[in-house]
Amino acid sequence: MSATQAAACPPSRKAVLIAADRQGVGAYGKNHPLAIPRVSLTVALIRAYGALDEGELLAPRKAVDAELTWFHTPEYVAAMKHSEALGRVASAYRARHRLGTLENPYFHRFFSVAAAATGGSIQAAQAVLAGRIAFNPAGGMHHARPDHARGFCYFNDPVLAILRLKEEGWRVLYLDLDAHHGDAVEEAFIDDPDVLTLSLHMDTAYAYPHRGGRLEDAGTAQGRHTTLNVPLPPGTHDGEYRLLFEAVWGPTLERFAPDAIVLQAGTDVLAADPLGKLAVSTQCFLDICGQVLATAPRHPDGTPRLLVTGGGGYHPVLLARAWTGLWGLLSGRTLPEELPPEGAERLRAAGWDPDEDASPDPRLFRFRLDEATGGPIRPHVAELARRIAAHPFLR
Ligand SMILES: [Zn+2]
Repeated sequence: MSATQAAACPPSRKAVLIAADRQGVGAYGKNHPLAIPRVSLTVALIRAYGALDEGELLAPRKAVDAELTWFHTPEYVAAMKHSEALGRVASAYRARHRLGTLENPYFHRFFSVAAAATGGSIQAAQAVLAGRIAFNPAGGMHHARPDHARGFCYFNDPVLAILRLKEEGWRVLYLDLDAHHGDAVEEAFIDDPDVLTLSLHMDTAYAYPHRGGRLEDAGTAQGRHTTLNVPLPPGTHDGEYRLLFEAVWGPTLERFAPDAIVLQAGTDVLAADPLGKLAVSTQCFLDICGQVLATAPRHPDGTPRLLVTGGGGYHPVLLARAWTGLWGLLSGRTLPEELPPEGAERLRAAGWDPDEDASPDPRLFRFRLDEATGGPIRPHVAELARRIAAHPFLR
């Protein structure tokens, strides 16, 4: 431990972080929203807090073909592997599998990087089955389809993690907090009465993926609801986000009564995210995650049955602070709000494109949390909360 590292804080919960120090470094090449430090920066900040015991860290392993093909087609998996071996994407694969595009670019070891992010979520499912909380920050690639890449996502690790939990007969509630609709996870389980997908996201009338995700887009199977969607208006602030979350969360848990929760914790909901158009603070994001943790179904020893993945998030400093706070919650540690000097230094060194944020607020590099955002509840948000309460699954 270096002199500047914070004194280690002991965990009070059984949790595992599935990550590696250099995970994702160099991924997505250049000029892509995901070509920023994310998992590596998060792990560095967690370490700077002294908030990671060696027994809590698990190195991700690559998902094998037999696992990837629980959801993906063998042809697609082969196309990813072949492209990696070749060092480029053949035009036939580009057309058929949407690989090697601006959206889903080829980069060095792209199959291996995606397969490790995916393997991490399967390991997370196994850890949850074995009685621990698990967090795989490289996961949450919720737009990937069975036979093609979509929205920066190559393999759909949330779907594979849910399938692994289902293998043990568990019923799973998938909660997607990412700023974008969790469309491919919804599609995967729309006919499955044992999985409920709940997504809160920017209304697709103004945001990617530009279709679906409306409150009335409710799937059903065997007479049971399988999907719930809360479309958020631009500029949704803390007070509005809390109102809408609380309108949907308690009743959903009560009606569906899951055996486990899979939480996709994308940070593009945060106010300064360059792709998100919401106005949620880090404090609010963590409070919501804390509510999920507090209300999750439990193992006999009281450990929440909760699997958490990463997701979107395009401001590296905000993301690393938020996911460090999330790890603090999951592992049962109280982290001071002030950043440890070594962690602050890492955040500063990660830099931030001045085109995106002309004069970064110095508080970004000093504190773990943001001040609450707020204002009155706008009439269309209040109306949305009323419509949620009247939803046939929740009333
Ligand atoms: Zn997103």
